[in-house]
Amino acid sequence: MKILLMGPPGAGKGSQAQRLIDEYDLAHISTGEMFRESYQRGETLGIEAMRYIKNGNLVSDDITNEIVRKRLFEDGDTKNVLLDGYPRTVKQAQALDHMLDKMNSKLTAVVNIVVDEEVILERMVGRRVCKDCGQTYHTTFKPPKVEGVCDICGGELYQRQDDKPESVRNRLNIYESKTKPIIDYYKGRGVLVNINGMQSFEAVYRDIVKAVGELS
Ligand code: ADP
Ligand code: ADP
Ligand code: ZN
Repeated sequence: MKILLMGPPGAGKGSQAQRLIDEYDLAHISTGEMFRESYQRGETLGIEAMRYIKNGNLVSDDITNEIVRKRLFEDGDTKNVLLDGYPRTVKQAQALDHMLDKMNSKLTAVVNIVVDEEVILERMVGRRVCKDCGQTYHTTFKPPKVEGVCDICGGELYQRQDDKPESVRNRLNIYESKTKPIIDYYKGRGVLVNINGMQSFEAVYRDIVKAVGELS
């Protein structure tokens, strides 16, 4: 099974991904997380990528395709995967098709989480992330038990540089111009499903599981 999670920044992709990978036993491929982890490890790739990420710009297609290719072909079992935040351009979508062809595989479902801009902004300004385990919180919608501290590992919570208002606007523009066209790219293949993301975490999750079940 190969599921692709799409939607604007702040739509809830990462939050839903956490539960879906457990439910279906999927390898989680989040290019955003891969870049952040590489940056925290002090690697050249991550440092280079962060120059784009912090201002809300996309990392180049070549670099991004290459880290996904490595993950899919060199890193163990990738029969069942959840792609989260990749592809983000039509060029990346084409590259992914190429990789899947080579694996004799195809996408089971393209899950597009739909949310209004107002909701996106509200979610992004309140998002906090654990610097040790990457768990996501929200100051209002998913607060940790103790302010600033991760429930799971006790790590310190921080606000991503690219969640500051200056970067958020740019990310939304980039989503509209570069990422949204991918939805048309997948139309007509019978795998695309729109999910209303402006519901509780549980309701969104339930709708995704139902849609994936129908497509599997
Ligand atoms: P969000 O879910 O809030 O959009 P992500 O963690 O998926 O954030 O991505 C954070 C940033 O990492 C993006 O804004 C972009 O700069 C970079 N990035 C992640 N995935 C890609 C990709 N597929 N192509 C180019 N840049 C990417
Ligand atoms: P994405 O990966 O699409 O950028 P996240 O999963 O990181 O989105 O969610 C963005 C923010 O919104 C996080 O702070 C998260 O806790 C919160 N959030 C996600 N889904 C919901 C929801 N259904 N209701 C309320 N808050 C949500
Ligand atoms: Zn943590």
